[in-house]
Amino acid sequence: MNLKPNPAPRLAIVIPCYNESEVFPFCLREMGDYLNDMIRQNLVQAESYILFVDDGSRDDTWQQISAAAKEHSFVRGLKLSCNKGHQAALLAGLANATQADAIVSIDADLQDDINAIGRMVQSYMAGHEVVYGVRASRQTDTAFKRTTAELFYRMMTFMGVKQVFNHADFRLLSQRACAALLEYHERNIYIRGLVPLVGFPAEEVFYDRKERKAGISKYPLRKMIALAMEGITSMTVSPLRLITFVGAGIGAISVLLVLCAIAYWMLEGYVSGWSLVIIVLFFMTGLQMLSLGIVGEYVGKIYLETKERPRYHIERKEGFPVNHPSAPA
Ligand code: UDP
Ligand code: MG
Repeated sequence: MNLKPNPAPRLAIVIPCYNESEVFPFCLREMGDYLNDMIRQNLVQAESYILFVDDGSRDDTWQQISAAAKEHSFVRGLKLSCNKGHQAALLAGLANATQADAIVSIDADLQDDINAIGRMVQSYMAGHEVVYGVRASRQTDTAFKRTTAELFYRMMTFMGVKQVFNHADFRLLSQRACAALLEYHERNIYIRGLVPLVGFPAEEVFYDRKERKAGISKYPLRKMIALAMEGITSMTVSPLRLITFVGAGIGAISVLLVLCAIAYWMLEGYVSGWSLVIIVLFFMTGLQMLSLGIVGEYVGKIYLETKERPRYHIERKEGFPVNHPSAPA
């Protein structure tokens, strides 16, 4: 690949925060120290900054962010009007990190190894426009999370969706790749599925996933399922096609069953089997409900997309230069 090297970037580190009051002080200190180290080493420019996005927290996360933005010149804060979810918060951060050549997104809980950021920047300077943070090991995640994540990845691959295995939302984007990502205007957003579609030169950087530094996960099972559903319905229509194939398969089986019944009747003179009828009835009803549900999921998504509602609202900004324009939601 013919890569065009980049100079040391003005870096923006975007961190979505939802009820992260406990972890915020650790995050600010560790990220701040790391960013200032990178500035001292001339790996990134002195105007680099951290942009915290408060996703409508109900604790004092925003108060902490805004105090930090007043105290440190390298901190900026963005407050969404209410909780819009991790993906929307991340998008708000990316859209408002216009004063940067490269943008790293990372979670607030320090599970992702911040030392990988330096390697991501080096990869950017070598000419890559997208650098994926990939978990080399995720021993600190529960067996349940690991298994469901792997199953989900395999299912997505089976349905033809390109995704980087063991990569979440820890990545570097060049300003150009970020602008390209923001051209996807869908409401039903699944960022880690869209980034590979952007298609600029990309590389992977491996790291070990650690324990959450403080506080509890903000991704309960309900939100994990919602994200998985967003991922599937926003990236592929394969489930709809699957219904057609299953329907055709069952149709073929029912023809076979009828032929068997006729043969049995001709040999034995009668056809019995209430239990068989009940089983088939239950199976078919279940399958029809499931199919209807899948179709409904897509119809619902069309309904939501047609409204073109804004994906988030920005309530407040702190630490931004005056007259910095707000990006469209
Ligand atoms: N988050 C968010 N909005 C939400 C849920 C989570 O901005 O509605 C943020 C959260 O503060 C964290 C990141 O998304 O910075 C990932 O969440 P978490 O670490 O709790 O997820 P897990 O690692 O347990 O999957
Ligand atoms: Mg986490």
